[in-house]
Amino acid sequence: MTRSKARSRRQAPRIDRLSLAPLTNFDIGAFFAILIALAAWRAKVLTGTGALAAVIIGTLVYGSGGWPNAAVLFAFFISSVILSRIGRARKKNLVDAGKLGARDGEQVLANGLVAAVCAMFALGGNPLWQIGFVAAFATATSDTWATETGTLVRVAPRSILTGKPMPVGLSGGVTSAGTAAALLGALFVALIALSVHASGAVLAVTIGGFTGCLVDSVLGATVQALRYCAGCKRYCETDPHVCGADTTLMRGANWMNNDAVNFLATVFGAATAIGVVYFFPYFFSR
Ligand SMILES: [Zn+2]
Repeated sequence: MTRSKARSRRQAPRIDRLSLAPLTNFDIGAFFAILIALAAWRAKVLTGTGALAAVIIGTLVYGSGGWPNAAVLFAFFISSVILSRIGRARKKNLVDAGKLGARDGEQVLANGLVAAVCAMFALGGNPLWQIGFVAAFATATSDTWATETGTLVRVAPRSILTGKPMPVGLSGGVTSAGTAAALLGALFVALIALSVHASGAVLAVTIGGFTGCLVDSVLGATVQALRYCAGCKRYCETDPHVCGADTTLMRGANWMNNDAVNFLATVFGAATAIGVVYFFPYFFSR
């Protein structure tokens, strides 16, 4: 009995070594991100690469801030999916299919990478990065709400720069309903972040998100690649066109597609929110 007692005491440290290290937020985040990305892939909300990118973004976002951060991501993701499903049949006739289908890896990273990187920097303890995280998702939400709402209303968009009427579904065109939706989308994310204690900087996040969305439209009207499909006699933003025909570059840079513009917009949105809190902490930090 004494001997077996001694043996079990000797074995105790070995069992300790074998037992699992406590789960970190990154482990938990990866677990739920994989489940959700799989479900989104099966529901054709995300493509394969889109699901992979979503796992990376989701893991970093949850890992760096737990459920409050996840709630901010969901505010963007769930509201975008719901809005994109409203009036789908009507949108299909107006907008090229590339903008309606499942989101691929580049689209997911364009909307979520800046937020995820800011969230990771926030682990260092500087609260400005947390505001940047929320503002990056506020920008992505603002832009998505604007696009989905602007496509639904029966009003021709006008160029944000020249005010001239533009075809529906091309970048750089704005409608009053879309602009109102952009402001609401940014405010929505700011209020969700406030309610889950992810960030209390409601005004800064709303300004950042809305500014990022405006920058998106300005870039869309200037440097973003605009193409023309001779077969369909129609301006578009993809090469080849959805009809399969090659398209001609009419304006902008070849590589400056919708994803690059979305990415730059989230950089602007996050930087604007961080900037106003940094320079005017008294007004904007709450
Ligand atoms: Zn075509």
